[in-house]
Amino acid sequence: MFCYQCEQTVGGTGCTKLGACGKNEDIQSLQDILLFGLKGIAAYAYHARELGAKDEQVDGFMHEALFKTVTNVSFDLNDHIQMVLRCGEMNLKVMELLDKAHTSRFGNPVPTEVDTGTKKGPGILVTGHDLADLYELLRQTEGTGVYVYTHNEMLPAHGYPELKKFKHLAGNYGGAWQEQKKEFSAFAGPIVATTNCVLIPLQDTYLNRLYTIGVTGISGATHLKNRDFSEVIEKAKSLPPLPETSGKKIMTGFHHTAILGLADKIIAAVKAGKIRRFFLIGGCDGAKPGRNYYTEFAERVPKDCVILTLACGKYRFNKLDFGTIDGIPRLLDIGQCNNAYSAIQVALALAKAFNCGVNELPLSFVLSWFEQKAVAILLTLLHLGIKAIRIGPTPPAFISPGVFKVLQDNFDLKLITTPDKDLEAILGK
Ligand code: SF4
Ligand code: SF4
Repeated sequence: MFCYQCEQTVGGTGCTKLGACGKNEDIQSLQDILLFGLKGIAAYAYHARELGAKDEQVDGFMHEALFKTVTNVSFDLNDHIQMVLRCGEMNLKVMELLDKAHTSRFGNPVPTEVDTGTKKGPGILVTGHDLADLYELLRQTEGTGVYVYTHNEMLPAHGYPELKKFKHLAGNYGGAWQEQKKEFSAFAGPIVATTNCVLIPLQDTYLNRLYTIGVTGISGATHLKNRDFSEVIEKAKSLPPLPETSGKKIMTGFHHTAILGLADKIIAAVKAGKIRRFFLIGGCDGAKPGRNYYTEFAERVPKDCVILTLACGKYRFNKLDFGTIDGIPRLLDIGQCNNAYSAIQVALALAKAFNCGVNELPLSFVLSWFEQKAVAILLTLLHLGIKAIRIGPTPPAFISPGVFKVLQDNFDLKLITTPDKDLEAILGK
């Protein structure tokens, strides 16, 4: 454990074995899980608020949960476990709030093919998650001859009717966030970072054409105010044009409303034994070795199984050809990390159709985590009682062995091993 939040911290530097207050590593771990889950909720609540949506219950919970972590408030283990599960419940509420805010403003996403090449002419690359920023950028660039490209978690934007209607929303460029230093250097135009994950550019690369907005900030980059993109548009026109390049076409836009539109086909295919199992392989990508697990796992999923995916972990495999089962694509990109709400709606609808619980469905969760929104989503899945979730590539450092055991005992939470071993454990030999 490590805690240095109050004056009595051991040696004036930090309590590392046991708190001077009596707090032990399990309570500390649960308080950290709670704080990180709250950060995830804050991100989604911020986006929802930007679109005019808020929820008093979520806001009230955030105050209560933060208060819970103040020195000498609570040393009760069960109380903390209930609090982190409530954090998951509140995250579900806020993801629903954000989903409703997105769909009421931009329409229900529809399956959409997206080009990954570039068109000859000036272009702006937009990264992050904020669809309101993207909408304004598209509106202000309309008719200027400047193309707009999505990067990373902006990919699902192509599926929303009110965003895809802009003909100059030209395509998706690059891969997941950890590749951005290389990819942004190679992109000739300006780059707008709306949320995480944005990195500090290497010296003498693209800092002079990097723009931040909202909560993002990089020293030396221009910070945009009031969603005024005029400076970025002028910059795009002044820089060398992008070349015409061809890229693979990828699909996105399988929001729950789109997948449930295929429900009859999907249910018939499951009943006919043509779809054996669904795998949700999703979450964050990252730079550490070991994440090839997710590419290999997706590649080895048998051909009679469907893969649901979301967030930036999909860049590990979303350019591979998975084919179809009775016209149903074997790879369904549900959207951004916050669209975990959609994945949950699909799971609940399938459970209803098959008259069983989510844990009885032929559905396995294989998740990759990196930052704190992923923590909030994991807590949501645990709050819903979903069992046997596999997480990786490494165990979260802030989960103590004692807390991990509680999660294993109650939720059968597992760490990933190898694709072959995990597939065998799920499907049998
Ligand atoms: S709250 Fe407890 S564990 Fe944290 S610094 Fe203070 S005494 Fe140490
Ligand atoms: S899914 Fe997570 S890691 Fe990926 S861009 Fe979004 S916040 Fe970053």
